[in-house]
Amino acid sequence: MADTKVYILDGGSLVIDGFHAFWNRGPGGELRFPTYSVLIEHEDGRYIFDTGYDYDHVQKVLPFEKPLQTKEQTIPGQLEKLNLKPSDVNYVINSHYHFDHCGGNKHLTTACTICHTKELEVCACPQPFEMLGYSDLTFSSDVAKERSDQLKTALDPELDIFTPTFETVSGDQEIAKGIWLFETPGHTAGHYSMMVELKNRRPMLFTADACYSQKSMDMMCIASFHLDPTAGVESLKKLKTLAEKHDAELFYSHDPDSFPNYVKAPGFYS
Ligand SMILES: [Zn+2]
Repeated sequence: MADTKVYILDGGSLVIDGFHAFWNRGPGGELRFPTYSVLIEHEDGRYIFDTGYDYDHVQKVLPFEKPLQTKEQTIPGQLEKLNLKPSDVNYVINSHYHFDHCGGNKHLTTACTICHTKELEVCACPQPFEMLGYSDLTFSSDVAKERSDQLKTALDPELDIFTPTFETVSGDQEIAKGIWLFETPGHTAGHYSMMVELKNRRPMLFTADACYSQKSMDMMCIASFHLDPTAGVESLKKLKTLAEKHDAELFYSHDPDSFPNYVKAPGFYS
């Protein structure tokens, strides 16, 4: 039986204002930050946690986030570095369905998609202030259809192509040996963080957008993109407690200071 391996797949970068990254704290001004996905080679199959953003989508819908992404920084490009094809991935786990976490799902058409029950419900009918966050619906034609029904608009034919097999879950749970999902709502309704236990090192706790950066954790400061800020702060505290309890190392979702120190694919953690 092979040991579990974790690969960090570089997904390029985006820009937001510092006041969005550190809500009501700042400082303001352009902040360029990384996005990435996590590939887990596990005895039960290959899992990908989040799939980054789609360059064309961001250029079309959110060009002010100034995407920088090479072909190599797409999901197919990163998998190719590991001599893998999209069809080699068995499971996609989405922390949530904001565009910078699900843009690559559309390449992984044969994988089963795992997400929080609530997240799949809300992304079809988000709050008005969440519309840009939930703007990339290429991960599911069914969700895109539900959204266009809600808005009474015609479905973009480009979205009528693919709906994966979904497996929705809720609560904190170990979805495969050593792969844990922890509920961390606030940023979105059904947000999950993930911990992976490895043989030769401390567990890795991927915060996803419950905590953008080390600085967010140090300041107990959430990002301004959220559904429920009070729940968001509780989730920050929960992550801190989980890291202490499991002696886990925290890996932040959008941290320009920490990301350069992460081992990127083809390197891995085991
Ligand atoms: Zn994000």
